[in-house]
Amino acid sequence: MTDLPEHLANAGDETLLVHGGQTRSPHGETAEALYLTSGFVYESAESAEARFKGEEDGYVYSRYGNPTVSMFENRMAALEGTEGARATASGMAAVNAALISNVKAGDHVVSSRALFGSCRFIVENLLPGFGVESTIVDGADLDQWRAAIRPNTKLLFLETPSNPNLRLIDIEAVAKIAHDAGALLVVDNVFATPLLQKPYKLGADIVVYSATKHIDGQGRCLGGLILANKEILDGPLKDFIRHTGPSLSPFNAWVLLKGLETLPLRVERQCANAAAAADLLADSAKVDSVLYPGRADHPDAELVKKQMLGAGTMLAVDFKGGKKTAFEFLNALKIIRISNNLGDSKSLATHPATTTHQRLTPEDRAELGIGDGMVRISLGIESVDDLKRDIETALHAIG
Ligand SMILES: *Cc1c(COP(=O)(O)O)cnc(C)c1O
Repeated sequence: MTDLPEHLANAGDETLLVHGGQTRSPHGETAEALYLTSGFVYESAESAEARFKGEEDGYVYSRYGNPTVSMFENRMAALEGTEGARATASGMAAVNAALISNVKAGDHVVSSRALFGSCRFIVENLLPGFGVESTIVDGADLDQWRAAIRPNTKLLFLETPSNPNLRLIDIEAVAKIAHDAGALLVVDNVFATPLLQKPYKLGADIVVYSATKHIDGQGRCLGGLILANKEILDGPLKDFIRHTGPSLSPFNAWVLLKGLETLPLRVERQCANAAAAADLLADSAKVDSVLYPGRADHPDAELVKKQMLGAGTMLAVDFKGGKKTAFEFLNALKIIRISNNLGDSKSLATHPATTTHQRLTPEDRAELGIGDGMVRISLGIESVDDLKRDIETALHAIG
C-alpha cells in the first residue's frame, strides 16, 4: 500500500477517496491545490544537481512528476491497495505504457478477445510490428489461456466485464496461470470501476484504468492510470513514461481528483439505475435478451458473486428486429443520449455494431456476441423514474 498517514491506514474507500493522497501547501488550503506548472526552481545549483541524481526529494519537471498529479496517483493507489500508481494522459496511454514497457522483440503476449477496440489494436497490430507475438483467446475458457502459454510469454492481458457484452473472466484463475508461467497479468478494470472489483487483490500485477470514464464521471477530461507495486512501477515502466511523455496534465489531474471524491455516490446511484433499467427492458416483448451482471439470468452470475462487489453501471440489450429496431429505440430516447462514452453522470446509449465495433468484420462481431440488435447503455445518476419513463416511451416507439 502507498504510504498513508496512520489515521487513514484502515479507512474505508469513501474516506480514502476524499482524503487519500492529499498534501497541503503552507497556505493550508482545504481543496487540493492545482500546481499548473511545467517546471520547478531550485534554491541552489547544488540542489538541482542532487535532484537530478535522485539524492534529494523533490520535483524536477512535470513530465516526470507533478504535485497535483502525485495526489491523484496516491489517492488511487490507496484505493486499489497497490504500492503506487502512474497517471497518464488517457486510458490508452496507460494501456500502451503498461504493455509496451514490459515486452521486447521476441516476447509473446496472450490476451482475451473481448477487448476495448484500441486495446485490441495494440495487441493485434502494434506489438507484432515490433516483433512481439500475440495470441488471442476466449477469456472465459481457462484451457485456452493455458494452451496459449509459450516459454517466451511475458504478459497476459484481459478486460472484465468486457465491452460491450459484459461477460466476465475469472481474474484469480488467470493470475495463477500467468504466475505459473512467470508472466505478468494486466487487467483493464474500467467497466467494473475501482470500487466494484479489486483486480490487484485478486492477483493481477498491473491494473489499468481509463480515468475518462467513471473516475471523472462528468464528461470533462481524458486520463488514465497504471497501478502496481513499486518493483513494476520503478522498472522499465518508469523510464518509458519519463522519456516518451504520456504524462497527465496537472489540470486534468485536479479535475479527476475532485471526481474521485464523489465516485462512490455516483457509482451507487448508477448501479441502482442500471439494475432498474435492466429489469424493465428484460420484461419487454420487443427485447430478445438483456445482459446485466446483476441479474440472475446473466451467464456468469456465479463469477459475478465471487469476483465483484456490485453489478456495475452498464447493460447491453438485444432487440428483436436487429439494427432497425435498435436505431428506432435509440432515436426515440430523450433523456438517455446517444454517445459512445460511458461511466458518465449522464445516461448514454450506443449501437456497438455501427460505432465502437464497426471496425471488426461481421464474423469477429458474431464471435464476440455483438449482434445488429444490440444497444449498450451506460446508466447515469438521473432520477430512476425519469429514466424508466424514457425507456418505456422509446420501447413504445419501436415499430
Ligand atoms: C475507454 C476505455 C479505454 C481507453 O481509455 P481512453 O481514456 O479513452 O483512452 C480502455 N479500456 C476500456 C475498457 C475503456 O472503456
